[in-house]
Amino acid sequence: MKIRLLLVPIFLYSFCNAQTDQDILKTIYKTSLTNGMSYQWLDYLSNTIGGRLSGSTNAELAVQYTKKELEKLGLDKVWLQPVMVPKWVRGEKEMAYFTTSGELKKVNICALGGSIATPENGLKAKVIEVGSYEDLESLGEAKVKGKIVFINRALQPDLINTFEAYGGCSTERYRGAAEAAKYGAVGTIVRSLSSRQDDYPHTGSMSYGDLPVKKRIPSAAISTNDAVKLSEALKRDKDLEFFFEMSCQQFDDVESYNVIGEITGSEFPNEYIAVGGHLDSWDLGDGAHDDGAGVVQSMDVLRMLKESGIQPKRSIRVVLFMNEENGLRGGRKYAEVAKEKGEKHVFALESDAGGFTPRGFSFDGNDLMLKKIDAWRPLFKPYLIHFFEKGYSGADIGPLKNDNILLAGLRPDSQRYFDHHHATNDTFEHVNKRELELGAATMTALVYLVDKYGVETSLEMKEIKD
Ligand SMILES: [Zn+2]
Repeated sequence: MKIRLLLVPIFLYSFCNAQTDQDILKTIYKTSLTNGMSYQWLDYLSNTIGGRLSGSTNAELAVQYTKKELEKLGLDKVWLQPVMVPKWVRGEKEMAYFTTSGELKKVNICALGGSIATPENGLKAKVIEVGSYEDLESLGEAKVKGKIVFINRALQPDLINTFEAYGGCSTERYRGAAEAAKYGAVGTIVRSLSSRQDDYPHTGSMSYGDLPVKKRIPSAAISTNDAVKLSEALKRDKDLEFFFEMSCQQFDDVESYNVIGEITGSEFPNEYIAVGGHLDSWDLGDGAHDDGAGVVQSMDVLRMLKESGIQPKRSIRVVLFMNEENGLRGGRKYAEVAKEKGEKHVFALESDAGGFTPRGFSFDGNDLMLKKIDAWRPLFKPYLIHFFEKGYSGADIGPLKNDNILLAGLRPDSQRYFDHHHATNDTFEHVNKRELELGAATMTALVYLVDKYGVETSLEMKEIKD
């Protein structure tokens, strides 16, 4: 059975020159849905290894595992690219409660990535609630000093693209503590960047910017349910006291790796197409959606090209980036080395928006490139992939940007992504096998088309038949 699945597509591709792009795409989707590897790889990455925060043992295990699996695929090259990454450790599970009218109410919090610990026996203070860190200026030091700043900003529910809603609040999480500290706050509690009401706190990166070490204050996320409770309690009792305890720690940078595999191009080996996701994840869940899904889909792109008997003209690389979450060191390192070596990257595709049903792609390139890509849209229509738009591609491939490269991001349905993002419930059972495989096929199809027709602006627009 397995041999048949392997041979049929090879036969079709090799002997049937009249094979249309529609036929090739059909083969790719069939291979993914009947013989895909992405779900099996994700199972291992999520359930056997688990959360893979940069600098952790699990991140190292994920490097070794994915390298070994890529080596099994018979690619032309597989290697590790060293990169120094930050090492931040959460420590003991965080604890928090508030007291009002003599009653103690426990709440769910988690330290934000990069935060300092609270004093050993915790931190207790009165609370001042703000809608955004910008409100601090109008309150001034007199109302903020000595208090915990509670930044209660909810994701805007009427935005259909939930990434926009997330983007509208992420600066609060990232800079909130640094801004509050300037007014003498002793800590910050930030409402979780989640689309729904539940009890899971969502972590994520934060930064103190250039704030001196002595002035830094601990910062945590609170679950959306508890943010509402705290806000209501504050309306009744503005003098209530909030307590939290965290033991997180920042260590010196450690060495880690980007994992890279390559199929060398038959006609233009010095032109590169990179496809990737990030291998690191936050530590609370197992990082199945963010970004285990993108990792295994990217690995499957190269496997499916081989399985479908497609010999690419250009060199196709899978790049599993390390440290997207709290440093972007892997993405920067890959672009830096590519520049040093003078490698001409013509296209890069990232999957880092969850393993949900694919809707299309966002493209970051010049208008000629986008016009050419848009002509391929009908090829994706049978798979309900209609959404092609100009826009942001992804964090890890961003550093590759120049005038001659087209960048793209896989765009899955985003409605449930922020229910899981950076939280304990970002786990394998919340990834649907078919949805994940459709994403892998969609990425493979686009890589196949870009490799076949190129994206060079100087070339005459080729007419896409079929
Ligand atoms: Zn991610």
